[in-house]
Amino acid sequence: MKITSFEEKKELRFKGIQVAYATVCLRKLWLFSKGITMEHTSDRVALGKFLDETSFKREDGFSDENVSIDFVTSREDLIVHEVKSSKALEEAHIMQVKYYIYYLRSKGIQVSHGLLHYPRLRRIERVDLSEGDVKGIESILHRIEEVLSLPTPPKVINKPYCKKCAYYEFCYG
Ligand code: SF4
Repeated sequence: MKITSFEEKKELRFKGIQVAYATVCLRKLWLFSKGITMEHTSDRVALGKFLDETSFKREDGFSDENVSIDFVTSREDLIVHEVKSSKALEEAHIMQVKYYIYYLRSKGIQVSHGLLHYPRLRRIERVDLSEGDVKGIESILHRIEEVLSLPTPPKVINKPYCKKCAYYEFCYG
């Protein structure tokens, strides 16, 4: 399934992490996208440990000017892999992987599916991109554009997961 609709209108230029943040908190999306970044490395640490403990290597990753995929494997079609430290924001993780599939397919690359790895939990979740998901991803991409055009960040959202967010002190301090 080659995806062209959003691609026909404009170049895909968003990072997977922006799609994930758009799912979690539009304020977080705005802050990150404007270059206000906070130290938050738990997923990077999980990836490093995972690569140390498996036969995969950093060179198995895929990155270009927009996306940075933890690693990819190939049978007939490509499989994209993302490693996360916890399932707390699983919905956002799933959208990030769906976006990677969407992104690569829009470039004409045959992608079978994605796999989300939670090594601490010893869990692997399969992620597929359906026709309905394509509309969902495109709606997120439009939302990202709208949010990034705002002159000031959206309001704090007061969710339980704010306490674990890298921007917690910035938002509530
Ligand atoms: S602390 Fe809460 S409101 Fe602030 S960026 Fe994080 S998730 Fe959004």
